[in-house]
Amino acid sequence: MINELILYGDVQEHATLKNLNTYHIGGTAEYLITPNSIKDLISILKILKDNNIKYFILGNGSNIVLNSREFKGAVIHLSKLNGIEVHPDMEMIYAEAGVMLPKLVSEMVNNSLTGLEFASGIPGTVGGGIYGNAGAYNACLMDYVSSVTVLDENYDIKVLEHEDIEYSYRTTSFKEDKKYIIVAAKFFLKKGDKQGSLEIIENRRQRRVESQPLEFPSAGSVFRNPEGDFAGRLIESCGLKGYHIGDAEVSLKHANFIVNKGKATSEDVYKLINYVHKVVLDKTNVDLVIEQEFIDWE
Ligand SMILES: Cc1cc2nc3c(=O)[nH]c(=O)nc-3n(C[C@H](O)[C@H](O)[C@H](O)COP(=O)(O)OP(=O)(O)OC[C@H]3O[C@@H](n4cnc5c(N)ncnc54)[C@H](O)[C@@H]3O)c2cc1C
Repeated sequence: MINELILYGDVQEHATLKNLNTYHIGGTAEYLITPNSIKDLISILKILKDNNIKYFILGNGSNIVLNSREFKGAVIHLSKLNGIEVHPDMEMIYAEAGVMLPKLVSEMVNNSLTGLEFASGIPGTVGGGIYGNAGAYNACLMDYVSSVTVLDENYDIKVLEHEDIEYSYRTTSFKEDKKYIIVAAKFFLKKGDKQGSLEIIENRRQRRVESQPLEFPSAGSVFRNPEGDFAGRLIESCGLKGYHIGDAEVSLKHANFIVNKGKATSEDVYKLINYVHKVVLDKTNVDLVIEQEFIDWE
């Protein structure tokens, strides 16, 4: 099977996943596959299906909590699906799923388009970002997506228009019903002013540096903000800032971030998230929704 797979991408066996997620935790993947192109991804998926091998699609690993045991199956990393086409005349950008959001934003600004400045500090990919409707400062990706190209259950390419996709705060129909793999998207934007966009981006960057523990590995906000409140405020009110399990710590700078102070394991992060959830529920009666996704924990 490996001989077949390598025709369509890079393949490593028992590869560590530690460098492929922003917590820098986790174990290995039985197969780590990086497809060369969308077409090659389809060939890879068919080979995996024929061999009865399960798979997981990995973007930049910035919203997941991996297990430390080996993932039995294939982790498909989309980093080579990084094509991007900017059409300033049509006020549109087409980007493949593996394009990093900060790269998408810089291409947008360099072409004097505007809209996605809010995403410049989100360290995820187009695919992962759309899947969870990433957002910040009251804006979200789905507001700017005109269509999404996906592979369906039969690995056929399908284009879903904006109105075919349900979304709300940090969620989409892709997340609710995992039958599609996102391979590319079109973003509709507006003509902008490059200098103005750069100023917004710098302002947002400073706000993040001041409020978020960017000096340590993390996966961003652990919990969604409940209606009318902030998860960070609730966690802090329970006295949990600085609480740690092993090297996983509730950040002293922002209580809705859990940071890896050095050698945190997957179990440390997993236990700490569940502990914080329980303490907040017991003390405040608020059942916080976990934003980060536990992968392969059942
Ligand atoms: C410092 C920091 C700051 C952050 N700030 C923000 C923020 O302001 N706002 C925000 O919303 N998030 C934020 N995040 C969280 C994270 O960056 C986003 O959720 C991001 O969109 C996740 O994208 P990813 O590519 O890393 O996805 P991954 O973590 O790799 O994957 C997440 C999920 O998406 C699925 N997925 C990935 N790609 C595809 C695809 N092509 N097709 C189908 N499914 C796919 C995966 O299977 C997985 O289930 C932050 C994270 C960090 C570390």
